[in-house]
Amino acid sequence: MRYFSLNNKNHTVSFKEAVIKGIAPDKGLYFPALIEPLPASFFKGIEGLSNHEVAFRAIEQFVGEDISEQTLQEIITSTLDFEFPLAAIAENVAALELFHGPTMAFKDVGARFMANCLGHFSERSNNEVTVLVATSGDTGGAVANGFLGVEGVKVVILYPSGKVSDIQERQLTTLGQNITAMEVSGTFDDCQRMVKDAFLDEDITKSTKLTSANSINIARWLPQMFYYLFAYRDSKKWGKDIVFSVPSGNFGNICAGMMARHLGMLVKHFVAATNVNDVVPNYMKNAKYEPKPSLATISNAMDVGDPSNFVRIQELFENDFERLKQNLFSFSFTDKETKDAMLKVHKSTGYVMDPHGAVGYLGLRKYQEKHPNAYGIFLETAHPIKFLDVVKDTLNVSLGLPSQIERVMDRKKHSIPISNYEELKDFLVP
Ligand SMILES: *Cc1c(COP(=O)(O)O)cnc(C)c1O
Repeated sequence: MRYFSLNNKNHTVSFKEAVIKGIAPDKGLYFPALIEPLPASFFKGIEGLSNHEVAFRAIEQFVGEDISEQTLQEIITSTLDFEFPLAAIAENVAALELFHGPTMAFKDVGARFMANCLGHFSERSNNEVTVLVATSGDTGGAVANGFLGVEGVKVVILYPSGKVSDIQERQLTTLGQNITAMEVSGTFDDCQRMVKDAFLDEDITKSTKLTSANSINIARWLPQMFYYLFAYRDSKKWGKDIVFSVPSGNFGNICAGMMARHLGMLVKHFVAATNVNDVVPNYMKNAKYEPKPSLATISNAMDVGDPSNFVRIQELFENDFERLKQNLFSFSFTDKETKDAMLKVHKSTGYVMDPHGAVGYLGLRKYQEKHPNAYGIFLETAHPIKFLDVVKDTLNVSLGLPSQIERVMDRKKHSIPISNYEELKDFLVP
């Protein structure tokens, strides 16, 4: 499979190159040159397939020759060793729980898949790769966990000191081995700027092979198709049109769902639910794409003012606004609406949503005002324990610690405090 740069269709690379580079030299996102729908028989018989079998069929064409079938099977096995349950919480409403992985956020799937691919590629090249990533919270933990112990790969994570939750900080600072956490006195934007500067700094890149692990990397983006297909399989028995509502920030997750539909999965609509960072909802209203600085909210993993994967969604619909509009609904919600929804659902059903899932729930409910018979699935992208302060304040409940979290609570934090770019550079240049 070849991938082209969205800035220049004549520039194409293999799966392997796209994974190692992350982004094209012209700064375009990589996009598959061909998307071959799966045969109707696959969808007809999907109830008889395991998670592993579904995932393999979905991803094999995108990987192509670069990884052998046996290795790809192994990568899928180690990526998918946890459950993706659909929790029915009301009539025609179910939560697709994506938080049963090692760091309890959906990013585990993409991070693990990418870590395994990169580990496999560097194993054969004797050429160590350094993954450099900035995090505002969830990405760091998922990447650290996914890459832990992967040979030939070093991971350096930058996070803003004092601005990630206690649990998130433990998840990225307590692992050791090939993972280094750098605690930056500054904001997430400062961390991201340092990462960008490092990628452009020849003093670093001439001696160190750098790559990124955010959702623009195809190996993090594409495996997110898997759980939409699992949910499709598990909800077929209802015999209804299904709709996915996805709490969205950088729009990688929802874009993967739309890819699954391009493979032939039957879905009536997608709903992109956002917090007050409403660039896409506005675009769907007036066809004008106007990025703006991000605003801080209680669903902070979605505080994005210029969603990088949205160009991929536009490409999927051949940049035809009217066609996109028939397929995608998008709504934004305030923190107050989010908390009210958390409270209402908890009161009426006992179900505890995290603030991100709650935004997805709101998007679904808004859609169902006009389409009451659709079977709605909203993605619960993180376990509520990861956003304990908001959940506790809003619902006045205490949550037990899941084993994945308990495990990191008494480990010792190791981080390297830095305050400027030179300190990062000194660390990266051997
Ligand atoms: C990253 C994240 C999101 C946003 O996902 P995108 O793919 O960036 O749209 C939503 N919820 C949680 C909990 C996240 O960590």
